[in-house]
Amino acid sequence: MTKKIEFTERAKKQIKADAKMGTVGVVALDAFGNIAAGTSTGGMTNKKPGRIGDSPIIGAGTWAENGVCGVSGTGHGEYFIRLNVAKEICVLMKYQNLEVQKAAQIVIDRLAAMGADGGVIVLDKKGDPAMIFNTPAMARAYKNSPDDTFVQIYKDFAENWLCNQLKGGEFKACVKGAIEEQEIQGKSGYELLDEIPSGY
Ligand code: ASP
Repeated sequence: MTKKIEFTERAKKQIKADAKMGTVGVVALDAFGNIAAGTSTGGMTNKKPGRIGDSPIIGAGTWAENGVCGVSGTGHGEYFIRLNVAKEICVLMKYQNLEVQKAAQIVIDRLAAMGADGGVIVLDKKGDPAMIFNTPAMARAYKNSPDDTFVQIYKDFAENWLCNQLKGGEFKACVKGAIEEQEIQGKSGYELLDEIPSGY
C-alpha cells in the first residue's frame, strides 16, 4: 500500500535545492580477513521527525560478514529496508556463489524495479569491489595498493574520463564544474518518489 504525499511550495523548493545526497559509506577488509562496513547519513530531505532510514539498520543499509562481503548503501531507505539490500547482496554471494558485481547488480535492479533509486559499495572476501547504482552519479572510490586506486563520480564513462585526465586542483575544479552542470540539468542524485510506503 502506498499513499500520495502533498508537498508544500516551500518544501518543493527545498527538495529541488537539496536533491543531492550526503550519505557517506565505507567498507574495509584487513589483512586478517576482517570486513567492516559503516554508513553515515542525514536521511532524506523533508523526512518526518523520528524517521529512521536504512543506513543504521544492519542488513538494510549496512552489512558485513567475514568470509563473504561488506556493503554500504545510499538511496531511498524505505525500499532498502524492504529488500534488506545490504544483506541480500551478501546472501547471493554466500549461497549462490555469485561474484560481487553480479550480486550487487541483481539487488540494485530489484530496487529499481520497485521504482526506487540507490547505490551500493561492496567488497568481497578477497577485496574485489563493486560499486553499483541506478542514478546518474555516485561519488565512489577504492584503494587497494598505492598503484591500485580508483575515483569516479558519474556513471557516464566520458564524464569520468574527462576529469580523471587531470590532477590535483584541476581535477577538483573539473569535478566541481561537472557536478554543477549536472545540477543545472537536474540530473544530480536520485529523484524523489511521488509515492512513498504507508507508515512513512
Ligand atoms: N538511505 C538514506 C535514508 O534513507 C538516505 C541516503 O542515502 O541519501 O535515510
